[in-house]
Amino acid sequence: MPKALKTHPTRAAQQALERLEALCLERGQRLTRQRRAVLCQLLAEGRALSAYELLERLRPEDGRSTPAGVYRALESLMQAGVVHRLESTRAFILCEHPEAPHTGQLLICRGCGQVVEAEDARVSAATGRLGERLGFSLDQRVVELTGLCGRCRAPHAAHAQ
Ligand SMILES: [Zn+2]
Ligand SMILES: [Zn+2]
Repeated sequence: MPKALKTHPTRAAQQALERLEALCLERGQRLTRQRRAVLCQLLAEGRALSAYELLERLRPEDGRSTPAGVYRALESLMQAGVVHRLESTRAFILCEHPEAPHTGQLLICRGCGQVVEAEDARVSAATGRLGERLGFSLDQRVVELTGLCGRCRAPHAAHAQ
């Protein structure tokens, strides 16, 4: 993906941005300049970025960007349900299907950094029940699983055979 999104957004990226902007508005999170800039970077990158990496990419565009500002923007985008935080890698990624609020599973490849979102109702139900049984009221139900994706596994698998 080209990094020149903010200056020459592709049509697809522009449409994606408009769709996300509409969702944010619907959910009471107006897209400020900073929030829009963060979304643009995540769209352009197409993978998870840490707050620091985001700041590094925003600074050349806007010298006033601060870590606190980036975190506030991310917080609002997470509240709008268009961005997820990966607790295990402390990085942020665009939601793959932000139209429907969900509490699913994130499969994170430690080889290439790819993140796949899954929504297995059985897993969600099981974690909910587990919380209840242990007397927890859960406010973070996303399950993160880390490993190697099919593509990253392929060379090792071929080697083993
Ligand atoms: Zn999602
Ligand atoms: Zn991978």
